[in-house]
Amino acid sequence: MQKLIEIEKDDSILVSSQVESFLRPDMVYLPISIHDQFLVKKNDLVRIGDEIVRNVFSPVSGVVHSLKKKNSLEGEKIFLEIENDFEERRKGKVGLKRRITKERVLDYLPLEDKKILVLNAIDDEIYVSTQNFYLFCYYEEFLGLLDEIHQLFCLDAIYVCLKASSSENINQLMNDLGMYPDIILKVVPDLYLLSKPEFLLSYLGIGHDQACVVYADQFYRIYNDLKRGRTMSDILITISGDAIKNPMVVQVKLGSLLKDVVLVLVSYKSKDVEFIANGLLSGKKIDLDNFVVTSSLSSLLIMKKKGLKKEGKCINCGLCSEVCPVHLNPILFKDPKYQEQMKKQCIKCGLCTYICPVYIHFLED
Ligand code: SF4
Ligand code: SF4
Repeated sequence: MQKLIEIEKDDSILVSSQVESFLRPDMVYLPISIHDQFLVKKNDLVRIGDEIVRNVFSPVSGVVHSLKKKNSLEGEKIFLEIENDFEERRKGKVGLKRRITKERVLDYLPLEDKKILVLNAIDDEIYVSTQNFYLFCYYEEFLGLLDEIHQLFCLDAIYVCLKASSSENINQLMNDLGMYPDIILKVVPDLYLLSKPEFLLSYLGIGHDQACVVYADQFYRIYNDLKRGRTMSDILITISGDAIKNPMVVQVKLGSLLKDVVLVLVSYKSKDVEFIANGLLSGKKIDLDNFVVTSSLSSLLIMKKKGLKKEGKCINCGLCSEVCPVHLNPILFKDPKYQEQMKKQCIKCGLCTYICPVYIHFLED
């Protein structure tokens, strides 16, 4: 197994154990492609869960407005604006818990020939606690569904994986796991990239063809769909960093403007800041203006502005290729001959930039 490393961090930056919420935005914005066929039209009244275009569902009840250009992790795109009427009208019956079948589970989890299911609640990026909190907030629902899946598929075991630093979560689970003898808690060290399924399975000593790995946020989506017949209307994101006084995890309505969430909830301790989405190492800097919360967003780090350190001249120390988890030689990124091939294999983990002693910056922002 590739040697994984621990990333240095400021241990004083800790998210609160209290989850905040931002669930009543005035407007939401849903990502649309110009090729999509609309299932609603302007001024229609929609409910939570109504399909707007194929596989895009309204997270609020309200009135359909017009198309707007907005930003998101996927870049600038067209979004459909829906005005929230705060009536919370919802498609489908409320509160009904459904029985699950093997066929339905297989639509989400490729368990056909697997013996082990691994629930992965590990956050790789420093200052991010999103996967951890999905498990922390919904552990009763998760354990119940895992137990049902275990019985349906006669699995050998179910592992729930957490980082050693997730102490509140570990204590909570330890209290309840006695009722589920086939669900085993696995506490793993704080090593970068250990949440990646291939590294996690190697660490656990499980053959890659024997297990199915599911992240906690995906499992929350599966739980909602399978057990409650509901599409996702909100997600958890971590808002943290050294420039704010109150790092937190927030339950936020999909389609909200991230700037509104920050304005309402964040208390700054520094004025000159930069915003980084989805992690310091593998994420990217974003402009908060017009940035929409989509399901691929997992964190916003608000960091004191440092700017890029000036790149020095390579001293051929070899650290970047030593640390690369997919065995690339990152120096070749600088050579146009190899760039295309490198880009295909690179998993954009950011380790080469992190480790380089002369601050050579390998990835685009
Ligand atoms: S960003 Fe790409 S090249 Fe750099 S260490 Fe990660 S996988 Fe290797
Ligand atoms: S880590 Fe930086 S200095 Fe060392 S070989 Fe790689 S690019 Fe050169």
